[in-house]
Amino acid sequence: MQQLVFATNNKHKLEEVAAKLNGKINLLSLDDIGCHEDIAETGQTFAENASIKSRYIYDKYQLSCFGDDSGLEINALNNEPGIYSARYAGVHGNHQANIDKVLDKLKGSNNRKARFRTVISLIWDGEEHFFEGTVEGTIRHELSGTDGFGYDPIFEPDGYEITFAEMSMDEKNRISHRGRAMDQLITFLNARANS
Ligand code: IMP
Repeated sequence: MQQLVFATNNKHKLEEVAAKLNGKINLLSLDDIGCHEDIAETGQTFAENASIKSRYIYDKYQLSCFGDDSGLEINALNNEPGIYSARYAGVHGNHQANIDKVLDKLKGSNNRKARFRTVISLIWDGEEHFFEGTVEGTIRHELSGTDGFGYDPIFEPDGYEITFAEMSMDEKNRISHRGRAMDQLITFLNARANS
């Protein structure tokens, strides 16, 4: 069976992708291949950061692999926090502080337009392919909902009157930036693994 490494140890992301593969690909995590290094995301774009992860794994292990990078782009903030989404307020993964910073910077602004973006870099048989997913929406003035993570409580996707943090995981996965990028990846992989 063909092996494919997902350059992550996030169990939730791994399960989501594994469930959608057609059983002809064996999906492996960084732990599974004994890679315990912290791969520094030093790129200036989502694509560069996704590529850094996949190229690192390919160069070191010569295995087909993919990496992803995501974040929130806010129009009125020149597309910040962007690649700095996880550490916008300084400390990596402090979601409450990141949200506080966004709401503070948007105080008094009526332009609340924003989008989440995910870029995936796949290296398959030595060739790199990119997949991208976005979801447009607006930034609420206050937090709403307790599910999800990151900026979910302040992001209302277009066409809905609830935030990502008020949606079921299934519903969010169907329309989210990550879900959309992953669906393109899965379509590509299922076609290649059949041929
Ligand atoms: P990652 O590249 O998927 O690890 O995402 C980087 C950062 O972007 C996260 O730490 C969050 O701050 C933000 N982010 C990415 N995806 C989402 C999402 O679906 N909801 C809320 N925040 C997100």
